[in-house]
Amino acid sequence: MSKRTKFVAGNWKMNGSLAANQALIEGFASEVQSGVDVSVFCPFPYLAQVAGLVKGTGISFGSQDVSAKASGAYTGEVSVSMLKEFGVTQTLVGHSERRSFHAESSEAVALKAVAALEGGLMPIVCVGETLAERESGLVESVLAAQLDPVVEHCSRFVSNDTWNLVIAYEPVWAIGTGVTASPEQAQAVHAMIRARLKAMLGEVVAQSTRILYGGSVKPGNAAEIFAKEDIDGGLIGGAALSSSDFSGIIRAAR
Ligand code: PGA
Repeated sequence: MSKRTKFVAGNWKMNGSLAANQALIEGFASEVQSGVDVSVFCPFPYLAQVAGLVKGTGISFGSQDVSAKASGAYTGEVSVSMLKEFGVTQTLVGHSERRSFHAESSEAVALKAVAALEGGLMPIVCVGETLAERESGLVESVLAAQLDPVVEHCSRFVSNDTWNLVIAYEPVWAIGTGVTASPEQAQAVHAMIRARLKAMLGEVVAQSTRILYGGSVKPGNAAEIFAKEDIDGGLIGGAALSSSDFSGIIRAAR
């Protein structure tokens, strides 16, 4: 099996201030060492500040969303080329809050991932089911419907049996609720996602693709979750806003 480097990504959502961002990054930067990739995803106005703060630390940074369009009359949108001018190398796409509050379809999310890949940014594509969908036995079909357009549109970016794309499995019922999927529940879904990637893209691509878990990850539960075979790290919301909690989660990924 190919070795996948563990990845801990902090999604700050609509939180932060110039002062808080500086204290936060300075508070966990010393935890970053080789062996675990660490990124933060900040609001757009802070990208320039974060670019300066992470310089020389080994921390990567990115945006929480990106436009599928290159430029033009799209008020409120931000393009890949604009992000790249600020040193951004990664972007979240299809976070459940974008899907639910901004009505982003899986097709729209896939086109954002295409724009990112075309421009050389690594998309972290977020997928996940609601509680009602889980209770109705729909986890596999919901994830397939979210994942398949991404694979269909982005498979042309596979080269040498790999692609610059990460998947984040975030069950909606676990995001910001304090309820975490059990490590076994999460592993079962990650294995399902990897099996789907294998069926569509082959074993080598499936094994090289990192799949992160997100949803109420904390320092106290991270190690157990990250130890599972198909879980390659985490997308962290609330706990990414505390340097001590985020430090603990980075340590758990080593
Ligand atoms: P949470 O958020 O860690 O606060 O549950 C995760 C996310 O939405 O990415």
